[in-house]
Amino acid sequence: MEFGSQYDIAIVGGGLAGGLAALAFAHERFRVALIDAEAPAAMQKESFDGRTTALAYAAARAFKRLGLWPMIEPDAEPIRDILVTDGRAGSAIARGGASNFRLHFDSRELDNGEPLGFIVENRHLRLAVFDALAHAENITVFAPAKRVSTVYAPSSARVTLEDGRTLDASLVIAADGRFSPLRMEAGIKTSNWSYPQTGIVATIAHERPHDGLAQEFFLPAGPFAILPMTPVREGGRILRHRSNIVWTEAQAAAPAYLALDDAKFLAAIGARIGDHLGALTLEGPRWSYPLAFHLAQSFIAPRLALVGDAAHAIHPIAGQGYNLGVKDIAALAETLADARGLGLDIGALSTLDAYQRWRRFDSSALAFGGDALVKLFSNDFGPLRLARDIGMGAVNAIAPLRRMFMKEAGADFGRLPALMAPMS
Ligand SMILES: Cc1cc2nc3c(=O)[nH]c(=O)nc-3n(C[C@H](O)[C@H](O)[C@H](O)COP(=O)(O)OP(=O)(O)OC[C@H]3O[C@@H](n4cnc5c(N)ncnc54)[C@H](O)[C@@H]3O)c2cc1C
Repeated sequence: MEFGSQYDIAIVGGGLAGGLAALAFAHERFRVALIDAEAPAAMQKESFDGRTTALAYAAARAFKRLGLWPMIEPDAEPIRDILVTDGRAGSAIARGGASNFRLHFDSRELDNGEPLGFIVENRHLRLAVFDALAHAENITVFAPAKRVSTVYAPSSARVTLEDGRTLDASLVIAADGRFSPLRMEAGIKTSNWSYPQTGIVATIAHERPHDGLAQEFFLPAGPFAILPMTPVREGGRILRHRSNIVWTEAQAAAPAYLALDDAKFLAAIGARIGDHLGALTLEGPRWSYPLAFHLAQSFIAPRLALVGDAAHAIHPIAGQGYNLGVKDIAALAETLADARGLGLDIGALSTLDAYQRWRRFDSSALAFGGDALVKLFSNDFGPLRLARDIGMGAVNAIAPLRRMFMKEAGADFGRLPALMAPMS
């Protein structure tokens, strides 16, 4: 059995990973089909996703090189500093409940002149990606269109959609999320577990400016992050300062917090962050996400490569999930372009193996490192708290260690794909 080669690459999943992958592959002049079960208009609605992404500075370079930055930049708040504090159960941080052991990362200590990253609302990332997809040559979008089956032949693959249409391609990309049906059908197993935690997400407006400071408090129920967003402006005037809250709470307690009225919900936030931002108000709805870990045991199979959450879905503790996906995409685009340059088959296992060697170890190290942090910090056990506080104090005191952690937060470690290399 053999199929045609209508497309070089068929991407299943048009979320933040699949959309960016389509643009990166088209940038390398591959003919791309992008398939998503959801309608693009629905995915671009404000009600679709209330999260922000802490886009690491090296990941932002890929958006710049692909021409997306002019549309994102007005809504991207640079992260100038990160402050990590070990907090204590039931005591407000600013009233002396925090441990003295803090970690302060200052972007000015890096010599590249870039901020540590940017906080961007996911909806703005999606709008920029969809806008670029609409103008891109070499990309055909099939959406809403659910993939129902895939058949792999020796030199091509056939993807069948629910409405009966078929697409033939040399390579299929699984960008279909953490429960990736493509990954499961290919028999690729995952290491996976659920955290007994829920991610509560909300946007707050506050009286005082955040000055580009991202804060994370390690509380016994889980990390609590305050992420600086762009202000709401009218003309040149700032109407409201804004931050996004990513509050990891015990799964059993989260429904009660989510059901509080606005005043009590804000009081619960204030009890955790103290009063340094002044009076708080809620901007828009609250969101909640179950938190889990999935790491694919292989990122490839014949004519199939996994990217984004299909390959690795991790705890948001370090804000690195999508950044890992951006690196997958940039590395895969480069690997495939190199293979084509040498006249090799882009779907052959030997080609895809170069991608797997580039990305799997890096992703696993970050995924397991993040998991260890969740377990180390989501408790209030005295001796453990002492040990971690001493560790934080040591990192904070040693400039090269601080710089190493800042580069990691900036997705600027290991072998960087060309799309993420420093801009000249
Ligand atoms: C609370 C929270 C905060 C986070 N904060 C950060 C952060 O600050 N920084 C960061 O880097 N990451 C962060 N992340 C992680 C980040 O949000 C994810 O890594 C990212 O959204 C994953 O995108 P994706 O495209 O891989 O998957 P998804 O968004 O799950 O997209 C998968 C797509 O596949 C489609 N699909 C599935 N099956 C089919 C099918 N059969 N046919 C057609 N289409 C199909 C779906 O419709 C969907 O659009 C956070 C995550 C959480 C939960």
